[in-house]
Amino acid sequence: MISSLPKWVSSLFGNALRPNARVMETSYLSPHLKKIRFQGDISSWNFQIGYASVIRVSETEFRNYTIAYHDTDNGFFDIVFHIHGNGIGSEFVDLLKTDDELFISQPRGKRFYESPIKRQCIIGDETSLGLACSFLPLLKQGLHQFQFIFELDEAHKNVPHLLGLENCLVVSKKTFRDEKWILDLLPVDVADLQNTCFVLTGNVRSVQAFRKVLKDNTTVKIFSQGYWLEGKKGL
Ligand SMILES: Cc1cc2nc3c(=O)[nH]c(=O)nc-3n(C[C@H](O)[C@H](O)[C@H](O)COP(=O)(O)OP(=O)(O)OC[C@H]3O[C@@H](n4cnc5c(N)ncnc54)[C@H](O)[C@@H]3O)c2cc1C
Repeated sequence: MISSLPKWVSSLFGNALRPNARVMETSYLSPHLKKIRFQGDISSWNFQIGYASVIRVSETEFRNYTIAYHDTDNGFFDIVFHIHGNGIGSEFVDLLKTDDELFISQPRGKRFYESPIKRQCIIGDETSLGLACSFLPLLKQGLHQFQFIFELDEAHKNVPHLLGLENCLVVSKKTFRDEKWILDLLPVDVADLQNTCFVLTGNVRSVQAFRKVLKDNTTVKIFSQGYWLEGKKGL
């Protein structure tokens, strides 16, 4: 996905990339997790689990974020941002306040939900909290067995609860790179994992490590997408 455009290209698409959303309200779930409610004409947007929107964070830079909740009738939607402090997107979002206007694209990307699969495990980190919020209503409506597992900084341990997420296990950072920990999580008889799907997002290295253990030891359905990588701008 494109994360930056040359200045002349952004100017060329100037109209299409003009602000189309307004900040209605902001709140901090923790000092580094900010939830923002935006207002805009989303009547024609297609919301699918796993889709993300790009936000214009400077004249030439764009970053991906997941819509956590939307209300099409009343024209508003929420995003949960990790304010990690290392990048232009994080800085831009940290400064956003009520009535600011910005460009947010329609959601698009990979779909992560297959309704016939009974058991769903959603694995991620701070950047996956919005995805989890968008998933929860469908998991409940579809009477799925589900489990969220988040790799979070200590300061964010309570945030899944604040967001109303259920069936959450919170572990410390880099747990997903520990093969033995993942193997211990899986049932002894992997046949018990029939009709199970894993959705892996968040840090690229954690996603890769988790995926490898699942691939090597099971035949579960896997959806995966790395959301950020140390030292890499704008995945
Ligand atoms: C499909 C998709 C959906 C996403 N949804 C969300 C979402 O809902 N909420 C959300 O907060 N993020 C989400 N992300 C991740 C977000 O796009 C990245 O974190 C992005 O890199 C942030 O841009 P930035 O300008 O702040 O940092 P960049 O300029 O991209 O990166 C600068 C530096 O910051 C580091 N960095 C980037 N992200 C993080 C992080 N989370 N923690 C620590 N260091 C980091 C990079 O490794 C790099 O060294 C999503 C990504 C994708 C691909």
